[in-house]
Amino acid sequence: MLNPSARDDSASANAAVRPWDEHASRVLALVSQKGGVGKTTSTVNLGACFALNGHRVLVIGTDPQCGLSRSLGLGPQQLRGGLREVLLSGLPLADVAHATVLPGLQVVSSDAWTMSEEEQYKDLMARQARAFVAAVNDARASFDTILIDCPPGFGAETRAALLAADGFLVPVQAEELSRDSLARLLDHVREFGAASADAAALDGLFLTMTDHRTRMSRRVATLLGEEYGDRLLETTIPRNTRLSEMAVDGRPTVIFDRRSSGSRAYFDLMDEILVRRGRTAAATAPHPAPRIVAAAPEPRATEPPRPPALQSAAGGADRPRSPGRLLDDLRRNEGAGGFAGLLDREDEVLEASTDLLSLDDLLEEEEHGARDRRDEGDWGYGDDYYETVN
Ligand code: ADP
Ligand code: MG
Repeated sequence: MLNPSARDDSASANAAVRPWDEHASRVLALVSQKGGVGKTTSTVNLGACFALNGHRVLVIGTDPQCGLSRSLGLGPQQLRGGLREVLLSGLPLADVAHATVLPGLQVVSSDAWTMSEEEQYKDLMARQARAFVAAVNDARASFDTILIDCPPGFGAETRAALLAADGFLVPVQAEELSRDSLARLLDHVREFGAASADAAALDGLFLTMTDHRTRMSRRVATLLGEEYGDRLLETTIPRNTRLSEMAVDGRPTVIFDRRSSGSRAYFDLMDEILVRRGRTAAATAPHPAPRIVAAAPEPRATEPPRPPALQSAAGGADRPRSPGRLLDDLRRNEGAGGFAGLLDREDEVLEASTDLLSLDDLLEEEEHGARDRRDEGDWGYGDDYYETVN
């Protein structure tokens, strides 16, 4: 848990934008019994949403197979160090955190690429969970929001993540079998929590890859609502081709196509998580609009970014207001005042952006929008939600 005194001075001077509460950062683990339900996709896109909202964000991939860093355009050639080094040599997470295309969003991988590295990493996670917890706690001084992407099941990585986290989120695919595996997971967590008092509590379940066209999605949503009450978040993440393209693109979907149904659902999910914690959604910025084409950053370890409001003040006012310069800044990943700063200059960003909404998404949204109007309320999205597109 956080030692409040560990927070740096610049952050405490920046009280107006403290994203969670008086002192604390927040660590959330994304956990599920099943693979392929959207943990990694959610970690990357939620992390990007929080970063766009002005948080200093670290996403941690504890699953060597998970592709978290790949989804952010980074492979073994670019990444130097990761969780394995942290556990082996006690390096701080900030030292092995890497910049991404999005200022304010950094990533730590497991750094277990070969079979022997993976064996070593898994062994370390099993034997040194407390070292992982300590490293995450230290990182709270440098990051506002830390998301831990777990492998499927309830292995050593998931247990370590639950010890390090304040809360956990469970993406649930809207299909019948998911209900059984969810019940099993929550049983495991209960058992684990009974033995480890500081294990994270459930922050919420949310449905992923929902498809309005199938009765199954609706049925599962209704049943989960009955079983889990308000622990089932209202936001659902629709099945969306743009989200599935993320691993190929190497950029969070929410930054290159924020108008896709998937992106908007992740912004809603962030809002709901913040509001549930008593935070005002988008406290530091309006819903961001940067449909930005940013090249992958030069690989380099980075200093933890400055607090968002300071970045914004420093970068927003002084720089020349040219779209070309704006994109150059992004390419160099210098920050340009961070995305928080860019939000003040939304028009320029849109002017500079060449990445338009795809026909695929327009068709998809039109179809879902029409359906939503018929079924208003069922999924928590009414007419307002889609009216900007339709
Ligand atoms: P997990 O981390 O739980 O194993 P992933 O996030 O890797 O799951 O997602 C599994 C697969 O499903 C990936 O190919 C991903 O691109 C795709 N996917 C995830 N969420 C969605 C979505 N909402 N719509 C469409 N495809 C998705
Ligand atoms: Mg994964």
